[in-house]
Amino acid sequence: MFTPADDRYDTMTYRRCGRSGLDLPAIALGLWQNFGETTPYERQREIVLRAVDLGITHIDLANNYGPPPGAAERNFGRMLAEDLRDLRDELVVSTKAGYLQWPGPYGDGGSRKYLLASLDQSLDRLGLDYVDIFYSHRFDPTTPLRETLGALKTAVDSRRALYAGISSYSAERTQEALAVAQEIGLEVLVHQPSYSLLNRWVEEGDPNVLDVLGESGTGAVVFSPLAQGMLTDKYLDGVPQDSRAAQGGPLKEEFLAPETLERVRALNQIAAGRGQSLAQMAIAWVLRDPRVTTALVGASSVRQLEDSVAALDKLAFTDAELDAIEEHSVN
Ligand code: NDP
Repeated sequence: MFTPADDRYDTMTYRRCGRSGLDLPAIALGLWQNFGETTPYERQREIVLRAVDLGITHIDLANNYGPPPGAAERNFGRMLAEDLRDLRDELVVSTKAGYLQWPGPYGDGGSRKYLLASLDQSLDRLGLDYVDIFYSHRFDPTTPLRETLGALKTAVDSRRALYAGISSYSAERTQEALAVAQEIGLEVLVHQPSYSLLNRWVEEGDPNVLDVLGESGTGAVVFSPLAQGMLTDKYLDGVPQDSRAAQGGPLKEEFLAPETLERVRALNQIAAGRGQSLAQMAIAWVLRDPRVTTALVGASSVRQLEDSVAALDKLAFTDAELDAIEEHSVN
């Protein structure tokens, strides 16, 4: 059994998730990549246990994280059983369902049938009685929102989840989902959208996603704040062998187009001027908006995680820095 560091809550910043009673760490760890069967279990364990020692109380999962789908929940379940059992009440564990998970008509989308069966499978892999947050992973245009939100309510009412969330819903769908939730007596704690210096869709539209969340008091846990690694110094001199882009995964080498690399280089200079790594500045930048509760990062090593968490040493921006960043980020 792992003995956590006594000072694990001394340096992490916690931010209130919307108008709820739940505090979340400003930086959370997601197990989408690097926590399946193709990464040695010991390396995964080192990263997660270091996260715990750094005060990262929130670990984010989904049914399909692997490879293969389900493997990340199984691996984290092993850590929960072997290392973290005594810390269950100090952790916020989230999972999701919404993308293809098993064959046939009931293993994808937003139906009650899929969501509740998937949640039971997740609990089984994790070895838990409940997760803290259960998300609808995406809006499903073929299923009434009342059914999807109703399934989340059942999850909460039956205590298989303590809170409900939605992920990647547009501003309009978020408004609709919040209205349905209110009708059926469900609190939606949090939305999980992507957001980074290279992906600012949550700022687009009137109202935009962040406006809807701010006005409704819903928290925002934003994923891929490092644009899957593009907003770091790792691709500045080509594609390293051990990187996500080299492995044929979701970060395709063609995303690293010359214009993007030019932006990244300029942003890297601004970060250097702040005395930060680009990863640290990219994280601080999403956290500059008080409506953002948490930057949800991934990591393939303890060193990366430590570098990212040190973003908290310098969160403030001058107006001049923000203006300079504005020139090189993508709207
Ligand atoms: P990031 O944008 O944080 O990218 C993480 C990757 O960036 C790492 O795997 C690593 O790449 C590189 N990296 C991380 N830190 C550093 C550093 N300090 N210096 C240099 N490189 C670094 O996030 P992810 O795309 O991994 O997503 C984070 C989490 O968000 C997921 O695990 C998941 O929980 C959630 N998510 C949710 C989605 C949804 O639909 N709701 C969709 C996608 C993600 P490398 O591995 O190449 O070393």
